[in-house]
Amino acid sequence: AEFKVQALQDCIQRVVHLLESEATYLGHELHCTLVPTPVLVLIDKDKMVQLFINLVRNAFDAMVQPGTVTIRLRRDGEHGVIEVCDTGSGIPEERLNDIFNPFYTTKETGTGLGLSICYQIVHHHNGAIEVESKVGEGSTFTVKLPLAQNEQ
Ligand code: ADP
Ligand code: MG
Repeated sequence: AEFKVQALQDCIQRVVHLLESEATYLGHELHCTLVPTPVLVLIDKDKMVQLFINLVRNAFDAMVQPGTVTIRLRRDGEHGVIEVCDTGSGIPEERLNDIFNPFYTTKETGTGLGLSICYQIVHHHNGAIEVESKVGEGSTFTVKLPLAQNEQ
């Protein structure tokens, strides 16, 4: 794996670029709001992009009606914080403990591997991933990553 100091803005912009036309095709909006100051983290960029692609694709899947996915980036103390927020189905509280397990899926053709891979990627970066959700309103996945040493 290639760990380099990168701005999270670059990662997120790459993800938006890759998924923009998919969003349009599906009738969804894909937005991002990024703090202007580079949020520098030591990351394997390809893995990080994969992580956010997984989260955004899950968000698309969760929105039966055309909806909005918003990616937000901010700095919080010694962490970069990224939120992926959707206006989809939401996740019942009693399922929140299952979704990161390998092979847990509620989709007919799902693999159930996306979020378990996300979990692994985040933990290889000494980060954390959390979810908040309300059935019928949507879900927010929050990823926290430690800032690169010299940036704290
Ligand atoms: P898959 O996408 O193949 O089903 P994942 O590991 O990516 O596997 O997701 C596991 C399950 O978690 C999904 O099947 C779905 O039930 C739930 N899930 C994940 N992301 C969302 C989301 N944004 N909104 C609602 N449910 C979600
Ligand atoms: Mg998935």
